Amino acid sequence: MTIWDLHCHPSTFLREGSPEAALQATLRHADRMGIARMCIYLGIERSEDPPPHELHAANDYILRCLRLAPDRLFGFAYVNPNYVAESLAEIERCIADGPMVGIKLWVAHRCSDTRIDPIIRRAGELKAAIFQHTWLKTDGNWPGEPTPADIVLLSRRHPNIPMICGHTGGTWELGIRAVRAQKILSIDLAGSDPTNGFVELAVRELGADRIIYGSDSGGRSMASQLAKVYGANVDEATKEKIFSGNLRRMLLPILEAKGIKA
Ligand SMILES: [Zn+2]
Repeated sequence: MTIWDLHCHPSTFLREGSPEAALQATLRHADRMGIARMCIYLGIERSEDPPPHELHAANDYILRCLRLAPDRLFGFAYVNPNYVAESLAEIERCIADGPMVGIKLWVAHRCSDTRIDPIIRRAGELKAAIFQHTWLKTDGNWPGEPTPADIVLLSRRHPNIPMICGHTGGTWELGIRAVRAQKILSIDLAGSDPTNGFVELAVRELGADRIIYGSDSGGRSMASQLAKVYGANVDEATKEKIFSGNLRRMLLPILEAKGIKA
């Protein structure tokens, strides 16, 4: 199986020291677990509402990683809908004029709010992958933290732009159902416990083409996250799609535009 991991943070493998050292640590784990390529994003600082200098620093961190192993990595630019102009500038710097191929949105502001729209439109024009963290927390989300229902509302405003519902909302039994009818949305398997039945329910409700493998490593181990797919009671062709086929298909237009080998 060819495995592409949608969701990796080198800075969580090694919180101190250079991006290069953290990436080397990440690659050691990836090599051991048979991960061919990884999408990487975020730097060391983790403010809930990152100011522009933090976005810039995070993206610089990722740009340095990309230089070290461009054939193994896809970089996503970190952006924040509370700073639209600065986020658009980061998209130009890192994607339009740089090597990155996607954007990462975290917990600064709920994506159902229209203030995010210029960011989504520009990412859509560039065919950049759009990754939005989502969660459904039993004890309440952080103030700006989106749920799967938020990304559904966002997607309805941009019905032709593919996006990824990060973590499937964590509470995946609800997350899968929340996004089911919005067929252009894909889900990310990363970052929850490797519970039996997650992948099977996703395949049954969404079909094999809307599910993308990710680990959220080093916040989660690569092995535990791989187990969700390896251990799922689905056929091998479905596992291939989840492990790399679906992400490859999503990234292909921007990879081709940039001359990056897929
Ligand atoms: Zn993550």
